[in-house]
Amino acid sequence: MKAVVKTERTHGGVQVLDVPTPTIGENEVLVKIKNASICGSDVHAYHFAPTHHFIQPPVIMGHECSGEVAEVGAQVKDFKPGDRVVIEAINYCGKCESCLRGNRHICNEFQIRGMHRDGIFAEYVAVPPADLHKIPDSLSFEKACLVEPTSVLTHAVLDRSNIRAGDLVLVTGPGPIGILAAQMVKAVGAEPVVVGIDSDEEIRLPIARELGCQTINVSQQSITDALQELYGRQTVHAVLECSGASPIFQTTLDVVAKGGSITLIGLFAKPVEANLSIAVRKEITIYTSFASTWFDFERAIKMLDQGLIQTDKLVAYYDPEDAVQAFEDAIAKKVPKPVFRF
Ligand SMILES: [Zn+2]
Ligand SMILES: [Zn+2]
Repeated sequence: MKAVVKTERTHGGVQVLDVPTPTIGENEVLVKIKNASICGSDVHAYHFAPTHHFIQPPVIMGHECSGEVAEVGAQVKDFKPGDRVVIEAINYCGKCESCLRGNRHICNEFQIRGMHRDGIFAEYVAVPPADLHKIPDSLSFEKACLVEPTSVLTHAVLDRSNIRAGDLVLVTGPGPIGILAAQMVKAVGAEPVVVGIDSDEEIRLPIARELGCQTINVSQQSITDALQELYGRQTVHAVLECSGASPIFQTTLDVVAKGGSITLIGLFAKPVEANLSIAVRKEITIYTSFASTWFDFERAIKMLDQGLIQTDKLVAYYDPEDAVQAFEDAIAKKVPKPVFRF
């Protein structure tokens, strides 16, 4: 079968290879992958950024997908061929203190598909049934492919912030996660303002505006000036930090209102320097949000199915043979979310 494989510990080093189709054990399910999308973290893996040097090629890449059950092992009771599914990205041990305390998504033995172990940029994947979620017939494979990234935002916005209906919320970074975050903010009745820079002006900020969000280009205007112009105030109630740009953290401390919250979602490329006394005096709550849980997958499926989260403006489709082009287009910010059709 065809698979997109990280083959070398270098920038790029990605090849489309013919690999053996997996065979399933008694308690495994063979999933035929329909759609699979490139995550920002896959781009880091493509670059072979220092944060991703733990990857040991050859590894089949990818963790965001939708598919159909092709075959089930003898012991599998809850799934049958033809079931439409999405696959969880994280592998957890189920035995460590984090898992036992109900935090499987931050398992001490945390592994993510496509990085620590083979992923889903392939025609077929063998997985345990516990890693699958059924999706309704009304939810297309194209939309369901974005369940995993959407689940990252149900986790961040619904559980790891104190955003309330009516709040003004700054979303820093207009990549796919930022655009999904802004829609999640709208879904809970709050108002998102999406922050980007000049290089986002061509594709990403226009998408945010098409989805009904106000935007600020910080290469052109300060956030406080823009807020004053848009809302007649200079602060926001909450921030969702989706850029990973280290200098933005101090700015978010400055613009969040007293008693407000900041949720850090992006991984910072460099250590952050900030005057935290400002956070103390304003009694700001600083949350972090990492990946997502079983429940977040279920919530993301429902929100996508209900049309609360739109994905069509984010995606462009590629043949897996053109994987290198898909990665290069993501890096060039031409396409927020390249999606393979397997
Ligand atoms: Zn991802
Ligand atoms: Zn664990």
